[in-house]
Parts: sequence; C-alpha cells; structure tokens
Amino acid sequence: MTKIKQLPPHEAQKIAAGQVVERPANIVKELIENALDAQATQISLYIEDGGKKLIRVVDNGYGMNSDDAQLCFAKHATSKITSVEQLETINTFGFRGEALASIAAVGKVTLLTKQSDTQQGTKIIIEGGHIKDHTITACKTGTDIAIHNLFYNIPARQKFLKKTQTEWRHIQQLFHAFCFAHPSIHFKLFSEDKPIYNYPTAQFDERESHTNNIISRCTQIWEHNQAQHMLAINAEHSNTLKITGAISNHQHYRYNRNGILFFVNKRWIKNYSLSSALLKGYLNVIPPGRYPMAIINITVDPTTVDINIHPRKEEVKFIHPRRVEQLIKNAIKEVLEENLSNQIKQPVDFVPQTKNFGFDVPHTSPSFAYPHQPTPPFAATPTKQEKKSTLPFEITHNKQFETKEYEQTIIQPQTPNINQTTSTTSYNLIGQYKKTYLLIEKETGLFLIDQHAAQERILYELFSTRFQDIATTKLIFPQIINTTQDNIQTLEPHLTIFHRNGIGIEQFGTNQLKIESTPVHLKGQSLEDLVQQVIAWIQEYQSLDSDKFFNTINEKLHAQMACKAAVKAGDVLTQEQMIQLLKDLEKTPNRFTCPHGRPTGWLLSINEIEKKFKRRL
Ligand code: ADP
Ligand code: MG
Repeated sequence: MTKIKQLPPHEAQKIAAGQVVERPANIVKELIENALDAQATQISLYIEDGGKKLIRVVDNGYGMNSDDAQLCFAKHATSKITSVEQLETINTFGFRGEALASIAAVGKVTLLTKQSDTQQGTKIIIEGGHIKDHTITACKTGTDIAIHNLFYNIPARQKFLKKTQTEWRHIQQLFHAFCFAHPSIHFKLFSEDKPIYNYPTAQFDERESHTNNIISRCTQIWEHNQAQHMLAINAEHSNTLKITGAISNHQHYRYNRNGILFFVNKRWIKNYSLSSALLKGYLNVIPPGRYPMAIINITVDPTTVDINIHPRKEEVKFIHPRRVEQLIKNAIKEVLEENLSNQIKQPVDFVPQTKNFGFDVPHTSPSFAYPHQPTPPFAATPTKQEKKSTLPFEITHNKQFETKEYEQTIIQPQTPNINQTTSTTSYNLIGQYKKTYLLIEKETGLFLIDQHAAQERILYELFSTRFQDIATTKLIFPQIINTTQDNIQTLEPHLTIFHRNGIGIEQFGTNQLKIESTPVHLKGQSLEDLVQQVIAWIQEYQSLDSDKFFNTINEKLHAQMACKAAVKAGDVLTQEQMIQLLKDLEKTPNRFTCPHGRPTGWLLSINEIEKKFKRRL
C-alpha cells in the first residue's frame, strides 16, 4: 500500500507559511515592505492584542487594480521580478511573491486598495486562503490590508504565540527599525486604537544628507538626552560600498545591544560579524559589557550581496565581508576620536596657539605671543625664559596636600627631575577638589580632571606598551588565595599571562594560589579579585583562537591592573603628585578617556560660567 500522499494545496500552503510567518512581527514586516515597494510616503500600522487579533497596515502607495488585488494572494505572484536573474540587481524589498499567499493561509484578510488614476477601489475578503468576497468600493488611493485572528485555523501554531507583551515588543522594535531606515517616510503606530508613535517625515530639507535625517529621526524616537549623544557617520570604501548613519559618543551607552541596528541597502539585518566590527571600533572607549547605540546603513552594489539566504531575509551574505567590517570599525574609531579631540582638545591643549603656555591664565603682553610656533597638543616643557615670563604667580605649596598616602601608587616618574620642574612649572593648577578632581585654570574656562580616570589611563597605556619594563617587588608575606580545584585547573595553563605582567603567582596546594611578587604599582593591594576575574575571563573567552584569547585577556588584565593601581577618588594628592599626574597624562596616548571609557577631563567653559552669573546672555 502506498503511504505517500500529496497534501491538498490549502494544507501545503499552511505549512509553507511557517517559513514566512512565525509571529505577528513577521507579517508586519512583509506588509510594511510591500507599502515601501509601492512607494508610499505615509504608513500607519494598527495592532491589537500584540498582533494576534489584528495587524493592519495602511499606506498611500500606488495601490492595485482589481485583477492584481485578487492575484496578489496567489502563490509566487509578484510584480517585482519576472526571472531569478533579476535578483542580482533587485531594488525592491519583496521579490518572492509568497508573503501575501502565506499570510492569507494563516489569518482572515481584508484588503482595500485603489490606484490614483481610478475613482473606485477594490475590496477583497479572504479566509483560509479562499476569496470570500470581492467587491468594488470607494476608498483612498493606496492599500489598506488587515489580518484578523492570526492562526485562527491552525491551533497548533496559535498556542506557540508568545504573550501579547512579547509580540508587541517585537513589533515595536521592527517598526522602529523601519523608521530609522526610512527617515523621509511618515510612520504611525496605533495599539488598541490608540496612537502610540507618530513620526512625521524627518527629511526637513531635500538637500540634507541622509545622515542628518537619521539624527533627526533619532531625536523623534529616543529621548532627547539620548539622541543628543549621536554622531554622524559617513564613510566609503568605493562607489560601491558606503556607510552612513549615526552612532553614540563615548559618553552614552546601554546595557544591551538593542540600540544597534544595521541596514543593508535599507533592509534591517542581523549580522554578528558586523556587530563585532562595530564594538571593536568602541574598544577602550566605552566600558566593557556596555553597548553603544548605532544606526548603520550599508549601501552596497546589489551584485556584491546575497539577500536570498534567509526565509525572512533577516540575514545577508557579502562577497567581501572583511571589507565591510573594516570600513565600519575604522569609520567608528575615526568619528569617536575626532569627537573626543574636538571636545577635549581645547582644555588639554597644553600649548595654545598664542600667548600663554599650558594652564596659564591669559597674558596680554605681546612679548608672549608665539603665533608661528608649532603647537603639538602635548608639547615638551617650556623653556626657562618662557616659563618665567608666563608665570602669573608662583605655585605655593599647600600644606593641606602634604601627605604620604599617595606614595604607594604614584607613577614611577618617567621624568626623573620632576621636582625641579615642578617648582618652576607654569601650570596654573588651582588644586584638588573633593579629593577627586584636579582643578585647572584655563583661558577658556575651568578644566576638571578626574584623578582616578586620568591615572587609570596612564597606567593602562604603561602596562600595555611597556609591561616588560615594569618594576616588580617581592612580597615579604606572600598572598594566599583560596579557590576551587576547578578554578585552579582553569588557571594553571595560563599562569604565564600573570607572569608576563609582573605578577608572580603559582599553585599552592590543591585549592590555593600563592602570589609572591607584584608590580610595584600594585604593592600592598589584594589581588584576589583580580585573579578571580581572570579565571572568569578565561572561561568566557576560551573558545577564541589562541592569539585572540591572549590579547583579550591581556587587555582586560591591563585595564583591571590600572584600575587597581590608580589613585582613587578620595586620595589626597600633594601639589607635586598632581603636577606629575598632569605631566604623565600629557604624554599618554588615548588620554581623553579612561580604559572604561569615562572622560578623564572636561571643560567648564568661561561662557557657561559667565552665563550663570548673568554677565553674558
Ligand atoms: P512580493 O512583495 O514578494 O512581490 P507579496 O506577496 O508580498 O510578494 O505581494 C505580491 C504582490 O502584491 C506584489 O508584488 C505587489 O505587486 C502587490 N502588492 C502587495 N502589497 C501591496 C501594496 N501595499 N501596494 C501595492 N501593491 C501591493
Ligand atoms: Mg512583499
């Protein structure tokens, strides 16, 4: 007896629909894409019960005539391509001609549609894939399509729908992705008949670049205080590969990746490698475990990307993925660096273009103008004569700062005669505020430096670049760390990572570790949490290849060591120690932020100060 039977078409279609329609958001995606393909400029989405009861999309696109309105629900019915070859250069979102067929198989559909050159529109009602009603009716130009009672005819699928809240969250996320990708379109979202979001076109000026429009869109979608942290990004590899968009600066981040969206030729896609490239661009700029916000549009020649590898077109495949990743990473690094320089250049420009040196108060005497002098931002110590003549007053040693507390963690001076220099230095350092911030008087305002963040960066760079020179000290009383055998087994093959960084650690018995020497910077500190942290990183990153693994752990270890060794908020510093810190900071690369991405300093501009005192409007 034969066992195989061909499924009747309506049953087969219900099964095939599973490919396209897994949850309400999938339908929303197909319908909005159809509206976009129909060149709509206004798109409204209506949702009830997280899409389970109703999904309706109303557009003002070019609509369909009566025949097409009926045909659009047939399998493989599309107006967008006529042969597979055209896929190479496709510029519409749809092309498979299966979305409406699938959707009609799993819900009750009402379609109203009209083209602009006709008076009357068409209304079609479909249930279970069969047309129940087809009438001529009055309606607006465009298309209004509603899906009621999703999976009403497939109870097995219906019960897999998630809670209303979950489906609603997916829909909102998707809706916003469309809004970001198409800032020129007016989008509205209603839930249970109530308006939830309304984003009028963000293309205020035809000439405005797409990037500016995206930032305007961010302002509509996110709270103002988030959007104001967005920086425009614009880079290209060639005519056939460009990126535009907006990314958050170093001062703003989230605890999850939900603010990161990638679009390839305006399609929202998910791609792990692109996210990693983006995060690499932020390395050392934002804290670990935090994520930026980023709207990244990748425009590529359609022949260099395959958009047909995923049933819902949520993933794509590039012919040259590395090229795209590199472009993203570099563009992000560049934009962040430029932004940081712009923000902090002024205050940390220790040698301004004219007149005064470093942190001096302004001098009006023409003899102090050095207009043609090359002005590297962190120039060497001024000559004696310059120092003398620019010195507004001698820095007096303030008894309050005299303490030994800081000695243990002070940076080993890279300039041995620091004390001599200190006595004649021209920095106008006001002092330490709240035992946490260094206050510096500048022509442009009051510059504040976070002593911990600044020294953390200094030490991080020192540990990263010169770890072989780091002086170590033998402990008179070794530190014993109790841990589990499991942890010791994890750590044992990697102890060299510690050794290379000046931490003499060995196994001591079955469940103990012994530390006999540490870098001088860490003298007297308990390293237990550092060791436990490294064990956790080893477990987390052991799937990486060995080079990557070593670099990742090393980098994290340096940041952690720097954090431990750096002077803390609340530590009292002497005048000399403060000046040493500033000098070291001058010479340090990446000095604008600490390794966790917090700023090391910022300027309270004289303008702001004067405004507060109403000296200036
Ligand atoms: P695809 O988008 O892959 O072509 P669909 O099943 O989504 O397949 O749609 C089938 C056809 O119906 C489309 O090719 C288009 O011609 C027409 N269509 C669907 N939605 C709309 C709409 N909102 N406005 C105008 N035409 C539409
Ligand atoms: Mg479609």
